[in-house]
Amino acid sequence: MRKLLCTAALILLALSYISAQRRADNDRRIQFPDVDGYLTLKVDLHIHSVFSDGAVWPDIRVQEAVRDGLDAISLTEHLEYQPHEDDIPHPDRNRSYELALAAAEDEELIIIRGSEITRDMPPGHNNAIFIDDANKLLQDDAVEVFREARRQGGFSYWNHPNWTSQKPDGLAEMTEMHRQLIQDGLLQGIEVVNEVTYSDEALQIALDHDLTILGTSDVHGLIDWQFRVPEGGHRPVTLVLAEERSLAGIQEALDAGRTVAWFNNLLVGKEENLMPVIEASLTVTEAAYIGDTDVLAVTIENSSDAAYMLDNQSAFTFHRNADVVTIAAQTSTTLEVKTGERRESVELAFEVLNAVTAPDVHPEFVLDVAVE
Ligand SMILES: [Zn+2]
Ligand SMILES: [Zn+2]
Repeated sequence: MRKLLCTAALILLALSYISAQRRADNDRRIQFPDVDGYLTLKVDLHIHSVFSDGAVWPDIRVQEAVRDGLDAISLTEHLEYQPHEDDIPHPDRNRSYELALAAAEDEELIIIRGSEITRDMPPGHNNAIFIDDANKLLQDDAVEVFREARRQGGFSYWNHPNWTSQKPDGLAEMTEMHRQLIQDGLLQGIEVVNEVTYSDEALQIALDHDLTILGTSDVHGLIDWQFRVPEGGHRPVTLVLAEERSLAGIQEALDAGRTVAWFNNLLVGKEENLMPVIEASLTVTEAAYIGDTDVLAVTIENSSDAAYMLDNQSAFTFHRNADVVTIAAQTSTTLEVKTGERRESVELAFEVLNAVTAPDVHPEFVLDVAVE
């Protein structure tokens, strides 16, 4: 009997370990709900491996992306900067893409062919993705590289315009060359988030020139170490609002500018893209007056990975909170609203503090609450 109990205890222990592991794997998957009319795809379009100045083989990049629940990645090796070439001779600039593609064969992950055009300012660093042949981008004239990428059907965007190695004040600023590239249809996007940095100035450039907003990891080491994933962090990603989950679907959405960057719990995007993501994330699941009181309990379910920080804009005050409330990720939160008298419905208006649609501009979000 004792032996049986012992075995049962061991089995229970093993099962609880397995379920804890499954929970941990599930927790790190980046999750945002689909929005009205579009799938919300999670992509990281700026990644390095040993085939430029990264520290890992491409198959590790694939495994990291699968663990993070991403829909697509692009390994964007520096075309012109090859610090490992004595150890890893690299005559074919498509090699990294091919290895990642093979490593992702049995995965759902989409691999996008890309390269980082690596020049002094201007034009600085820019990524070209959805290209056919990275080798043909090895050209002396920088503008000619953008032209070749475009001929191949590529989408190009300005990387880290706030990078202090090329812009010591960290203030992203338009140049004549970038202006010309945009005008000629050779530059379609800009990183507003790169690795551990965010740029208000890059966001303003995106809005002024109608560029697609991107957030990328630009990872060189390990995702887990760089973005402290075991401690609850997440890699920066771009949420792409796509009609279909495919290479063509992602490219169509990028061309149309339907993106939101997600970085350190901050959502960055044009209002028309950001609002649907917030609205799909937060839903009222219960609203009822508490006992004989005039205090309304409103339960809000957050089906996204973002912890929403909401600043109360309505005339009502709360029974358990001051004006700023946090709606934690992937869970339900109940607000007790003092409505003064019993009402059949109320509108709760908030400023979303962890989201920006322009420098210093937080979008307003209204929850329509129907009382049960
Ligand atoms: Zn770069
Ligand atoms: Zn890079």
